[in-house]
Amino acid sequence: MTRVLIIADMEGVTGLERYEQCVRRHPEYAEGVRLLCREIDVIADSALSSGARTVSVIDWHGGGGNIDRDQLDARVDVVAEDLAPGYDLAMLIGFHPMAGDPNGFISHTMRQGLAVEASDRQIGELSLLSWWLGEHGVPVGLISGDRAATAEADRLLPDTPCHTVKRAESWGRASCVPAEQSYEALRTRVARVLEQRERWTVYRPPAPVRFQLKLRDPNPIPGLIPWLNEDADGWLAGEVPHARDLIDLIDVVSALINLQHRNEFIEALAEDPALRAKIDEARNDRVALAMEQGYWKP
Ligand SMILES: [Zn+2]
Repeated sequence: MTRVLIIADMEGVTGLERYEQCVRRHPEYAEGVRLLCREIDVIADSALSSGARTVSVIDWHGGGGNIDRDQLDARVDVVAEDLAPGYDLAMLIGFHPMAGDPNGFISHTMRQGLAVEASDRQIGELSLLSWWLGEHGVPVGLISGDRAATAEADRLLPDTPCHTVKRAESWGRASCVPAEQSYEALRTRVARVLEQRERWTVYRPPAPVRFQLKLRDPNPIPGLIPWLNEDADGWLAGEVPHARDLIDLIDVVSALINLQHRNEFIEALAEDPALRAKIDEARNDRVALAMEQGYWKP
């Protein structure tokens, strides 16, 4: 009785052909969400009709919060980034290739402008996630995404079947296999994966995980972490016990850099009197609205 875990990214789902569809607050994002939910539904439905006992999904894109429960099959559980509940099989769905892949759709690794190396080669999110799953003994049964993502999987995770749903035309544009054809093929794939237990592969990372990180735009923040060593080319080297620690480290570094950028942005605004006035005006409007609606009293 198989408990299936889908880890769903967004860039590599069927039908999604434009970068803007992956960006929260962009008008095209709603369509991206619809495509993400539809893909999860197709895979979950096929898994459940092929004998899976449960299907759970981790919403991986941009830290989660993309999946709209109302658009999702009620049998699918949206779960936290935690493998403690225990899963028998994982599928990595809707992925993009690692940073710097010139043939990929929205190539990146966790954030724009970051390269990650481990075990003396460059790796991307597919490797990081497969290793994290491997540490918990969870095999990877299927990987899907654009052509460059599945080529990366063929190279780095060679024992797992892959399914290609699109090709990149440029970094931010892709052309997809017609949706219904793609969903039909995914259904068949998933059913076959559930049958072929002998092809499920556990990817255990080297322990400890020795890694190097490099930011395209030089930034002082990672250098503040005392156990990272910076070389002359700007690579930061370190060692962590588990793959999950490396994912967490990248998340933390990323959050700190975003915070720094936000602070710089606010300072730049404060120095521009015209913009400053606009912000004050907008804030006053919001305060007035809040007072009007009874949420706030000065
Ligand atoms: Zn993503």
